[in-house]
Amino acid sequence: MLHLVIERALLNIAATPENWPEAYDVFHALRKQTLAVEKSNAGGKDHNIHVFLLLLAENVAKVIYNASGKAAPFDHDSGQALVLAAAGVAMHLDDPAFSEYVWKAISSRDHLKSDQPVAMCNPHCSVCMRKSRGRWQNTPNLVQR
Ligand SMILES: [Zn+2]
Repeated sequence: MLHLVIERALLNIAATPENWPEAYDVFHALRKQTLAVEKSNAGGKDHNIHVFLLLLAENVAKVIYNASGKAAPFDHDSGQALVLAAAGVAMHLDDPAFSEYVWKAISSRDHLKSDQPVAMCNPHCSVCMRKSRGRWQNTPNLVQR
């Protein structure tokens, strides 16, 4: 039940960009829950759904924190892990209507605020910095001709 309270807090944080840095602490609270559930090793369908829901919430927290632009970002690929966790939930629920709902939510463009791709997941992300440097190295220097 505690994780439901945490997940509700996460949704409230997501709704207000000024609160996005708080997702850092929410991630760590969720991580403790996930480790406890995984350690119980209960097995079975409900256990697997529970683990994937917690992993989904963890990665939502990571993406929200990274979007805050604060230092020490989480994994660059947290967005991809979020989609994989959502797929895990849908797969274990084995409910075609829910699966369709999840995929529509993931693939919807309704939540996009910009037509431009995001250049960096976080200004402190080392993966994004490396990619950005590579892009500049491969760009012809237009000043020196
Ligand atoms: Zn990144």
